[in-house]
Amino acid sequence: MFDPIGALLGLFSHDVGIDLGTANTQVLVRGKGIVVDEPSAVTLHRRTKKVLAIGAEAKQMVGRTPANVVAVRPLADGVISDFDAAERMLRYFITKVHQQTGMVPRPRVVLGVPVGVTDVEKMAVYDAARNAGAREAHLIEEPIAAAIGAGLPIVEPVGSMIVDVGGGTTEVAVISLGGIVVSRSIRVAGDELDQDIVTYARQKYNLLIGDWLAEEVKIAAGSAIALPREKVISLRGRDVVTGLPRSVDVSSVELREAMAGSINQIVDAVRATIEDTPPELVADLDEHGIALIGGGSLLTGLDERLSRETRMRVYRPSSPRSCVVRGTGEALEELGFLEAVEVLPRRVQRV
Ligand code: ADP
Ligand code: MG
Repeated sequence: MFDPIGALLGLFSHDVGIDLGTANTQVLVRGKGIVVDEPSAVTLHRRTKKVLAIGAEAKQMVGRTPANVVAVRPLADGVISDFDAAERMLRYFITKVHQQTGMVPRPRVVLGVPVGVTDVEKMAVYDAARNAGAREAHLIEEPIAAAIGAGLPIVEPVGSMIVDVGGGTTEVAVISLGGIVVSRSIRVAGDELDQDIVTYARQKYNLLIGDWLAEEVKIAAGSAIALPREKVISLRGRDVVTGLPRSVDVSSVELREAMAGSINQIVDAVRATIEDTPPELVADLDEHGIALIGGGSLLTGLDERLSRETRMRVYRPSSPRSCVVRGTGEALEELGFLEAVEVLPRRVQRV
């Protein structure tokens, strides 16, 4: 049915793609590029539940919050775990886009969702986007978005593998003819590596360190393979016994040892997915390689480690952190295509 108000809004409004990730949310406006790239975080007043900060500002408060402030992550394992917070966050980001671009805050939106989420989980993302102001909301599976963003041939009968190492989960998927052929998701990714470092410091050095420092250390000196020149980095924390500040120097060799179990789990997930892949498609993967994306994929040497253990070429496409959001943005450009790949919840399925 023709919707005159919607059509009018469309003239002044914009199309946006959103990657609503567990760790980070990115928003892309068609024709302008990525305009929001901030942590998926919200801080609230404990008693009144008033929102104090969202995004980067909220993440800065995490771990430094007084007793009356709570920090929440609206998503866990890629799905909405706190609906109100997710909606507030989306509204905030959509409004921010509107302020930056001077456009009507009633966009048409494409969002990525993890593979295999339930109808209820999809509905939550859909509703959060609509409640946050989206005139239209479309959902597509993250690996499909990532493949589009990475420029892979997704509608052809050629297999492509995407390994997305995010904050909370690592998702492995094989795509062919615009659909997911096999996939696997494990709850081991970037955040788990941070926790490994926290645990290691406590067990080996009786040192309590914050999650943030662990993340910084992972980024600066963590690796998945032996380095030509191993690094040394200082960990500053609180001594478990004396309760006083103390710092110790750890080497990249130790960090690798700390993270070994989790990295093995990531490697195993990729290998197991290859084993589940039909032989014809395995031949394609062999020929075209495996695309490694997501923030966690930036760990030094993860590409080489996976390549060694799968005996396939593993590469990071350009800007591996933003493949999903760029893919959602591109999907908006071709409505016919979007309709073919979208995974709407049953209640809003268009007939
Ligand atoms: P999500 O999709 O779950 O929101 P992202 O794709 O944004 O997650 O990835 C977030 C993870 O990437 C975090 O665990 C972060 O520590 C990690 N990360 C970001 N940059 C790097 C880097 N240079 N090296 C290693 N890990 C990184
Ligand atoms: Mg992600």
